[in-house]
Amino acid sequence: MEGSLTARDRVGIQDFVLLDAYTSETAFMDNLRKRFNENLIYTYIGTLLVSVNPYKELGIYTKKQMDIYMGVNFFELPPHIFALADNVYRTMISETNNHFILISGESGAGKTEASKKVLQFYAVCCPSTRLLDNVRDRLLLSNPVLEAFGNAKTLKNDNSSRFGKYMDIQFDHQGAAVGGHVLSYLLEKSRVVHQNHGERNFHIFYQLVEGGEDELLRWLGLERNCQNYRFLIQGECAKVSSINDKSDWKTVQKALTIIEFSEKDIEHLFAILASVLHLGNVHFGASALGYVLSTDTSIKFSSNYALELLGIPSNMLREGLTHRKIEAKAEEVLSPFTAEHAKYARDALAKAIYGRTFSWLVNKINESLANKDSTRKTVIGLLDIYGFEVFDVNSFEQFCINFCNEKLQQLFIQLTLKSEQEEYEMEGIEWEPVPYFNNKIICDLVEEKHRGIISILDEECLRPGEATDFTFLEKLEEKMCGHPHFVTHKLADQKTRKTLERGDFRLLHYAGEVTYSVAGFLDKNNDLLYRNIKEVMRQSKNSIIQHCFNAIEPDGKKRPETVATQFKNSLAGLTEILMTKEPWYVRCLKPNHCKQPDRFDDVMVRHQVKYLGLMEHLRVRRAGFAYRRRYEVFLKRYKALCPDTWPHWKGTPAEGVQRLIKHLGYKPDEYKMGRTKIFIRHPRTLFATEDAFEIC
Ligand code: ADP
Ligand code: MG
Repeated sequence: MEGSLTARDRVGIQDFVLLDAYTSETAFMDNLRKRFNENLIYTYIGTLLVSVNPYKELGIYTKKQMDIYMGVNFFELPPHIFALADNVYRTMISETNNHFILISGESGAGKTEASKKVLQFYAVCCPSTRLLDNVRDRLLLSNPVLEAFGNAKTLKNDNSSRFGKYMDIQFDHQGAAVGGHVLSYLLEKSRVVHQNHGERNFHIFYQLVEGGEDELLRWLGLERNCQNYRFLIQGECAKVSSINDKSDWKTVQKALTIIEFSEKDIEHLFAILASVLHLGNVHFGASALGYVLSTDTSIKFSSNYALELLGIPSNMLREGLTHRKIEAKAEEVLSPFTAEHAKYARDALAKAIYGRTFSWLVNKINESLANKDSTRKTVIGLLDIYGFEVFDVNSFEQFCINFCNEKLQQLFIQLTLKSEQEEYEMEGIEWEPVPYFNNKIICDLVEEKHRGIISILDEECLRPGEATDFTFLEKLEEKMCGHPHFVTHKLADQKTRKTLERGDFRLLHYAGEVTYSVAGFLDKNNDLLYRNIKEVMRQSKNSIIQHCFNAIEPDGKKRPETVATQFKNSLAGLTEILMTKEPWYVRCLKPNHCKQPDRFDDVMVRHQVKYLGLMEHLRVRRAGFAYRRRYEVFLKRYKALCPDTWPHWKGTPAEGVQRLIKHLGYKPDEYKMGRTKIFIRHPRTLFATEDAFEIC
């Protein structure tokens, strides 16, 4: 049997556009599975790259592979992330315009790996001026640093990105990589103080405790045992078999030096990490009345370390953590916290320290990647953002992450439809739109002014003392009731046939339904830090802390933007950045839930194919004209098939193509001649030509 299979039967088709039964989801899945089983993880839909996470090393990212893909026509080699990277790069050079690569897919689907491969390809393959050689190193090494501080083990992915990242790689007119810039989006700070079962804090903490030199740990007052630090062990999985914290620590150290962090910066950075760990160990005993006992030895012991490391005058922090400053009649009164309150203040401080330090880190990396030369540059943007997430319990963080994914899906829809329409228009060709599920309705549900979920949440945050997570939920239930994508516990049975707890609401996202628990929504959205703690931090001798807490803080009286609103605005900003660039897409699929190689879970993959809109994308690609090629390119590739055009054609490329296809017997309804391109309706036409080409 085996022998009678043709290559195409065995390895499938490398571009879905060429699939005969292109409207059939089954045919789509068959092709994807066939290729996955042959370790062919990449397949095209036109120029969109579909990638299935193999969960094993395939040996396909070597320098040799890079050389093979460099400067070769997109469709001439098997699909690969390098082919896409190369195609984007060459288009940028030839058209001197800006591009971006949107990498999407759910958590663990392979987005971050894909973005790293693209960056490596550019760092290795682009020409360089010797002067700028270290720009490549810095570009490459910014990754392990950002990952150490911004990634963590979650249940979905051992190296899950807990922040969104958009990176511009800048090229000069000769195509050399000359600089870069990183924008980061909403770091999941709550992880610093709390991890769910089976999850970890950010990698860097474990790297420090496991890999830090003895002398360093001694100076930081740390012991080499993660079990001693409350902030590291709530998930009960400080050790992860797929992660080597010790060697990762070395990589990060080296990277920090090459990115030109000064010794002092590095020292201060580690002091901050250690201070967060010490803060985590501050326990608060309570008096009979429930007030915190500021004389408690645990507060003294752990907070003393934290103090010293942060360079804060003694007592100040302890006071800040246990008392609130109240201004009354031009007098300042210290009012003691309850133990519960004190714990809250401690966690808020730990989160603030880490969150601000992360922003400082991104700035520092940007300074190092900045290109000082002011000549015109073109950029390729790489977008790698946390993927769609559904856990057993989903909170404010998942709400933000999933909203972000809705926005990116919306962008994809707009751009694919838009660019397609524009191209036909520009080339003077009629087109018929394909129906899509448009997720704008879900984006609006979340972000609409005055009416969306974020607005309602912000409103509740404006009523301190009165509003709670539950009043927020009640308002949602009242205002959203009847919305086709919103489910409250009262209506749950009718819409999804699944019951809902009282404190939950459910959103029917484009990628599936997610139940959110409202607990903590108000708090996380407010993200308040007590004023006197802020004041204490401003006096720190640690230059990073000083910088982070002295940065222009809006005047205490003016209300700072809430977290959700800030995030919404920064996503709007991102959309604007992207809209001015030419888009390319990598759609990553996750083959199974167990992070295992060679397992292709049909139901799971089919679901992703569906919600990512891959079938519709394929239909759009095929609706009018499946293929389009510039006349020069088409002629160059196929001119040998016609004696009139071989070896040289003296007329215009368009005339040459006309002559060529006449010779090949294309029927008039099979193609259209645009202004600069030939459009071919059915792939089988091109297929036949391609076959003829292979035979000849
Ligand atoms: P995401 O960023 O989409 O959440 P990652 O890119 O972090 O997912 O991938 C999760 C894990 O899957 C990686 O740590 C790696 O083990 C594996 N993986 C992803 N892509 C590939 C690939 N192309 N080849 C081999 N393993 C991969
Ligand atoms: Mg990631």
